[in-house]
Amino acid sequence: MRACEACVELNSAPSSWPPHPNLALFGAGFFGVLAHSVMIRDQYKCMTCGHWMYRYTSDGDPAAKWRLDRQSDSTAEQTA
Ligand SMILES: [Zn+2]
Repeated sequence: MRACEACVELNSAPSSWPPHPNLALFGAGFFGVLAHSVMIRDQYKCMTCGHWMYRYTSDGDPAAKWRLDRQSDSTAEQTA
């Protein structure tokens, strides 16, 4: 399935942008061991197209940007 327009528009946008209305928060991603872990991103799933969107913090890579996980494209095709 292709990413919907709202996801494509948000991809690479500054993370100060709010999530679009059909994104559901699915938790946070951390990097490092417990006591020293750094929150690098929030994970959202799009209710329209089913893609994951990651909202990176300033400690993430890319720093402070939204990123669309396009790998869900190929996964969907392989399992269909
Ligand atoms: Zn979407």
